[in-house]
Amino acid sequence: MPKDMNKNYEIYERRESEARSYCRGFPTSFASASGSELTDDKGNTYIDFLAGCSSLNYGHNDPDMKQALIDHISNDGIAHGLDLHTDTKGDFLTTFEEKILEPRGMDHKVMFTGPTGANAVEAAMKIARKVTGRTNIIAFTNGFHGVTMGALAATGNGYHRGGAAGAALTGVTRMPFDRYMGEDCDTTKFLEAVLKDASSGVDAPAAILLETVQGEGGLNAARTEWVQKVAKLAKEHGALLIVDDIQAGCGRTGTFFSFEKMDIQPDIVTMAKSVSGFGLPLGLVLVRPEHDVMGPAEHNGTFRGNTHAFVTARVAIEKFWADDSFEKELAEKEEILTEALADLAEIVDGGKLKGRGLMRGVDVGSGELASKICGRAFEKGLIIETSGPDDEVVKVLAPLTTPKETFRKGLNIVLDAARDVTTNNTIAAE
Ligand SMILES: *Cc1c(COP(=O)(O)O)cnc(C)c1O
Repeated sequence: MPKDMNKNYEIYERRESEARSYCRGFPTSFASASGSELTDDKGNTYIDFLAGCSSLNYGHNDPDMKQALIDHISNDGIAHGLDLHTDTKGDFLTTFEEKILEPRGMDHKVMFTGPTGANAVEAAMKIARKVTGRTNIIAFTNGFHGVTMGALAATGNGYHRGGAAGAALTGVTRMPFDRYMGEDCDTTKFLEAVLKDASSGVDAPAAILLETVQGEGGLNAARTEWVQKVAKLAKEHGALLIVDDIQAGCGRTGTFFSFEKMDIQPDIVTMAKSVSGFGLPLGLVLVRPEHDVMGPAEHNGTFRGNTHAFVTARVAIEKFWADDSFEKELAEKEEILTEALADLAEIVDGGKLKGRGLMRGVDVGSGELASKICGRAFEKGLIIETSGPDDEVVKVLAPLTTPKETFRKGLNIVLDAARDVTTNNTIAAE
């Protein structure tokens, strides 16, 4: 390939669909990446606090995952095997069982869906409907579950729903998430009331679908008691509990699953994003054995399971989840993060801390300010994005493996950027 081919950014304007998104906020061309840093084609390095939207929880090009993958490819390992038995798939399942499921007392079966989060959510919704013979799924305000039609019905975001152009997004009833009506309102009371009332107009649900921390919806972290109450209501009313752990899972909240410390056992868990560890596509549905009702290929897909992702996913689990040392490290980084974000909340005057674990941010009050902060941070060498209904949350999704020094350096850039854009003379000077 001619070396300068990618330097011609006009190609994106000319040929890439307007559907492109993240690239608009970071107008350069990235050439390489290692750990928590990306380098562009001009040799500038950036600290990465976006991390593939939590698809790179272990950073870019982890050397052990990379080596295992190179070895697999050099040895003519299977690259695509439909859902045939392969040594890599068997090894992944064995490791996942030993290091993740068994220690957490989970008897769930692992169903490989198509390799995206949305596909895992589609499968989870279909399973719940098949198990219960009911159609309705209860999802929550500001939930994000993907943008294929079934998953989009469960997604709250108005912009994404607009993409359906009026085609019916059916089979989902929306309920208020925790804190949607303010700190003091227990929204499960409303949920309980409509579930108990056969004339509430809300059909008996096949499932209740939730994120414990709403990643795209503004880092709304549900309180443990709220999640427990929802889990109890699901059980009482014959609905399955689906936890969408696609973004909050794989260590992002400080434990492998986001619900681990909540003393609940979801009937179904959806996973994607960081489950491969290396940024390769892989989607999973974990389902209690009694609900494992999909017939052979009933939820079909050519790319169910991704053999290369099995290789790196196994290494990720062996490397980071074989004992509790990584979890301990995450707890330390959580403190660094919380402290810095408290400073950010002060700088922007009235900023609100959002999120949990290493999935945190600050609601700075407006999308305009949040985007200015992120824009300024980019000029200073940091990649960071916003979240929330009005993009009003500055959201830190640093790789969990980010060395403390780099982590602090990145957080200082966010703070400096916030100072710059909230100080009038800096803006006037530009
Ligand atoms: C990203 C995400 C999805 C969708 O995953 P895709 O791979 O983009 O289809 C679903 N649920 C949650 C919670 C997510 O963060």
